[in-house]
Amino acid sequence: MSGEELIRREVIENFTFPGKLVEEIPYGSGHINDTFRLVFETEQGRKRYILQRMNKSIFHKPVELMENIVGVTSWLRKKILENSGDADRETLNIVSAGDGRPYYLDSAGDYWRAYLFIEGASCYDKVEKKEDFYQSAVAFGHFQGLLADYPAETLHETIVNFHNTASRLDDFKAAVQRDACGHAGDVQREIRFVLEREHLAYVLGEMQAEKKLPLRVTHNDTKLNNIMIDDKTGKAICVIDLDTVMPGLAVNDFGDSIRFGASTADEDERDLAKVSCDMELFELYTKGFVEGCAGSLTDEELDMLPIGAMVMTYECGMRFLADHLDGDVYFKTHREGHNLDRCRTQFKLVADMEKKLSAMNAIVDKYR
Ligand code: ADP
Ligand code: MG
Ligand code: MG
Repeated sequence: MSGEELIRREVIENFTFPGKLVEEIPYGSGHINDTFRLVFETEQGRKRYILQRMNKSIFHKPVELMENIVGVTSWLRKKILENSGDADRETLNIVSAGDGRPYYLDSAGDYWRAYLFIEGASCYDKVEKKEDFYQSAVAFGHFQGLLADYPAETLHETIVNFHNTASRLDDFKAAVQRDACGHAGDVQREIRFVLEREHLAYVLGEMQAEKKLPLRVTHNDTKLNNIMIDDKTGKAICVIDLDTVMPGLAVNDFGDSIRFGASTADEDERDLAKVSCDMELFELYTKGFVEGCAGSLTDEELDMLPIGAMVMTYECGMRFLADHLDGDVYFKTHREGHNLDRCRTQFKLVADMEKKLSAMNAIVDKYR
């Protein structure tokens, strides 16, 4: 047995799985954690589970992170049961370790966790049809709705200032000041783009401080491959991948989804003529998200959905530009100027959204 296999033996023995292990395979196409699917033979038939080694280079506070997941999944389970739903399929369910904790710390220093396997549903990596994007909107909206009265302030902020755009702007300005690689002179236009829109860095934070936007449970990784779609009905049944669940604003989740999901081009497209915000996709996502939230969003939150999309895109572009100035130390790059290309698509999107703001507002009004 390899060292890796020995560790997995140790880990599996330390969880409360029933029956005899009959299969163990690396599973899924997640990029963050190491995911395995386990099959156990029990007296009631075969039972499947997901086992994950958590990524410790990204998540530095695994215990707090798991506390967040315990809080949110047990809340969801209760709500789903109250609505007579299938709580084994419509939320992640944690399988405890032998000592009752929601994780196991192995002898090599890695944290592991286990979930019930969500049966009869699939995960898709790429939006292939518009319906997929709509389904993800419904799922993330529904997640927001079920957690609307969750005490979000009790969640740990596992990545501090994650969507604090004002502090991202400070970081950006510091990167311009450092000008670590001497690039600043060549990107004056992009730097000006940021500075001319500083109000975008403050608008959400100010509304939050004035209690015009409530603190919510946010997912922060609202990709299509973080929802499970029922194989029979084609409908989204469950939101998974709760590592980045944190207190935040509903418009953050909405805005980030629009940023990457409603763009007509890839995040690193060089031909900016191809980059715009697809209004059909914007409408589809808005419809799904608002329906999924089922009345739980406040008027101010609904008003701010389009601005949320703009702010998330602005913030992301600014982070790409800061990383370009710093010499590509944070985001992985595959070519010279990759982060600058990414920054430019984001700013092109922001400029496009500025032009389309009244159309976006009209779409929100149609579904509120
Ligand atoms: P990552 O952070 O690495 O993306 P995820 O938690 O999203 O990790 O899991 C990776 C993949 O494993 C998912 O995209 C999905 O295909 C599968 N998966 C995760 N949890 C479950 C589950 N409870 N039931 C079935 N499949 C799951
Ligand atoms: Mg994932
Ligand atoms: Mg993840």
